[in-house]
Amino acid sequence: SMYDIISQLSLTSDKIALSHHHRVKLTTDPKIYLFVEVSELFNHAILNIIENALKYSPTDTVVEVDIKREENYVTVYVKDSGIGIDKGELEAIFNQGYRASNAKSFEGTGTGLWITKNIIQRDSGTIEVYQNDDKGTIFKVMVPIFFTNSLEESMDIVIFNYVEDNDELDK
Ligand code: ATP
Ligand code: MG
Repeated sequence: SMYDIISQLSLTSDKIALSHHHRVKLTTDPKIYLFVEVSELFNHAILNIIENALKYSPTDTVVEVDIKREENYVTVYVKDSGIGIDKGELEAIFNQGYRASNAKSFEGTGTGLWITKNIIQRDSGTIEVYQNDDKGTIFKVMVPIFFTNSLEESMDIVIFNYVEDNDELDK
C-alpha cells in the first residue's frame, strides 16, 4: 500500500539522512484516496532520486519529498538545494552512463537515473527534472490514477496498488 511506501520512504530516508547529516521532510496530502498501479521497483526508483538529492547536497540541508494528487496523477516531488545541474545538461542526465560536469568530484556510474526512468516509464509514469529557483534540483514523477472513490474522500491515506513485477526492465 501507499502507506507502506511512505513508511519505507521515511525509514530509508531517515537512514540516508542520518548517514549524510541531512534532514528529509516527507509531506503527503491528508485527504485523498486513490489507486495507481506501480511495480515494486517503483519504490527503488523513488529512493534513487532521494539518494541523489542527498548525495549532491551539502550536509545539513533539507531534502523535501512531496507526494500529492494533481488532477488524474499522483505526483512525487523530490527537491534539494544542492549543487544543481547546468541547464544544458538537464536532459542528458537520464542517459545511460551520463554524469553531469558538476558531479565529477562524486563517485558514481551514471546509471541510477537511467534505471529509474525505465522503471517509471514501465509503470506508465513520467519523470522530469527542473532547476530549483534558488539553488539545487527538483525531480517530478507522475503516475496516472486509475481509480478513485469520491465517497471515501475523507480517508487519509493514498493507496498504491502493486502489480506483479515480472518483466525485464529494458523492454
Ligand atoms: P550512480 O549510477 O551511482 O547513481 P550517478 O549518481 O552519477 O551514479 P545518476 O544517478 O544516474 O548517476 O545521475 C546522473 C547524473 O545526474 C549525476 O552524475 C549528476 O551529475 C546528476 N544528478 C542527478 N541527481 C542530481 C541532483 N539531485 N543534484 C545534482 N546533480 C544530480
Ligand atoms: Mg545516482
